[in-house]
Amino acid sequence: MSATSAAGRHPEQDGHLVSESGGVRHIAVVGAGAAGTLTAMRLLQHAAADRRAALRIWLIDPEPAGRGLAFGTEAPHHLLNVPAGRMSAHRDDPDHFVRWLAEHGEPGREHDFIARGRYGRYLADSLDAASRLDGAPDLVRLHDRVVGITHQPDPAASPLRLRLASGQWLDFDAAVLALGNFAPGQGWAPPALRSAPGYLPDPWAPGALERVADDRDVLLVGTGLTMVDMALTLQRPGRVVHALSRHGLVPQPHAGTPVVVAPTPDLDGVSGLAELRRAVLRQISRCRRSHGDWRAGVDSLRPLTSALWQRLSPADQARLLDQDLRLWETHRHRIPPTSAAALRGAVDAGLVSIGRGTVVGAETAEATESGKSAETTADRLQVRLDNGRRLRVAAVLNCTGSQTDLTRVEDPLVADLLAGGLGYPAPVGGGFDTTSAGRLRPAADHAPAPLWTLGTLRRGNLLESTAIPEIRCQADDLALLLLDRSAVEQRGATARQH
Ligand SMILES: Cc1cc2nc3c(=O)[nH]c(=O)nc-3n(C[C@H](O)[C@H](O)[C@H](O)COP(=O)(O)OP(=O)(O)OC[C@H]3O[C@@H](n4cnc5c(N)ncnc54)[C@H](O)[C@@H]3O)c2cc1C
Repeated sequence: MSATSAAGRHPEQDGHLVSESGGVRHIAVVGAGAAGTLTAMRLLQHAAADRRAALRIWLIDPEPAGRGLAFGTEAPHHLLNVPAGRMSAHRDDPDHFVRWLAEHGEPGREHDFIARGRYGRYLADSLDAASRLDGAPDLVRLHDRVVGITHQPDPAASPLRLRLASGQWLDFDAAVLALGNFAPGQGWAPPALRSAPGYLPDPWAPGALERVADDRDVLLVGTGLTMVDMALTLQRPGRVVHALSRHGLVPQPHAGTPVVVAPTPDLDGVSGLAELRRAVLRQISRCRRSHGDWRAGVDSLRPLTSALWQRLSPADQARLLDQDLRLWETHRHRIPPTSAAALRGAVDAGLVSIGRGTVVGAETAEATESGKSAETTADRLQVRLDNGRRLRVAAVLNCTGSQTDLTRVEDPLVADLLAGGLGYPAPVGGGFDTTSAGRLRPAADHAPAPLWTLGTLRRGNLLESTAIPEIRCQADDLALLLLDRSAVEQRGATARQH
């Protein structure tokens, strides 16, 4: 759907897509991955319920809705890491996804781990259904990228001007930044590796895996969820997939049968990292005894994680990120039992090898051995590890996960927001510094703009802010807040017109 036909806007005037009428509030959702799609969906549903016709919601992303990084894959073995029964798009209708699956020919899958591509279609379908609700406001899908935002303090003007990669700009009353996962950081990679032809800086980039030679060994740097996906995709007879990280820790599997979550403990009196570590271990071993599974204890802490994180001093937060987070995440963000079994089978068969290590240097085979033999030209990279080992591989894949340090993200919109003072990085943990409602805090001496965010971009403030169960609540809270705000601003705008 084009912006002009759906919005009834004039195509452009000197680059500016012009609003056709006064009185209509325009809200932009930038990014149509899971977070942006859920936000737009909730805005449509709540506005339809309230009969808010004088509202237009713009969902801006060059990519299709509902997919994003996690749910754009079509590989059948790239599974959700949360059972279907906990992946509803609606916080107030927990069986919604399970019902959708049943309506689409897959009944009774509550405890199953569904292919992520299927979940992407579910999200897109849910958005579509919300846009067709009786009384829903217009939804405009704009296939473009936002590259800059200006805050216009003039009360007669719309407060936000969004600049698009196409060269156009648009004015809005409020915007939600659902920018999601940025490409992985490169800081760990020696310069010689970064410039090597066999180096893949982002294995999720479209077509990246097509550059990996068919049957040669490869190295995956990082041993988290992306490594599991890549190892299962690339493993085959005749090739060894090496995977390594500083700690060598791999995500734990979900239990084969559902585990009853233990009650949330009372950790109100806990202060400081040392005490928190003891309290967490106590809770996990207590739950292992009472419920027969450590997972019951880990999951019981989920509702408290953000509050416990926020209670730590910045120094303790930095220590937690450095010393505890990886271990916590491998127990907290688990993989489906089938993925764990497939990985274990590949390791046992010698097709995948997982260990500890750091890359300290790299040379292309041509540079070291003049590229004379067939073997050296195919296995182009020789990688040196901190333990003195050398690996000869055709490709090195950066599986270290999304870059969360905004000062290192190579993204024009983020750079523009930081340079313009509309937002600044959270002091520890990545993402933007935000209020408790997810509004961007401006840099000193700048007025707060009507800009909100959710998901990964709130990691520094919340720590746990990347999975659907958290994101769907944030999206719903934001939609409610923005609609109330729209009502307030509508009254202000009407007053101005009189
Ligand atoms: C491989 C992987 C698997 C995962 N599996 C699960 C799972 O099974 N269950 C679960 O709960 N969570 C999972 N997660 C966590 C996941 O991060 C979230 O669930 C969710 O997908 C995040 O969605 P998002 O919209 O915030 O980000 P993204 O998926 O990264 O989407 C962001 C979107 O914003 C767009 N965008 C960015 N900048 C701009 C701009 N300037 N202008 C316009 N558009 C822009 C991008 O094109 C993209 O479409 C997984 C994550 C990964 C990386």
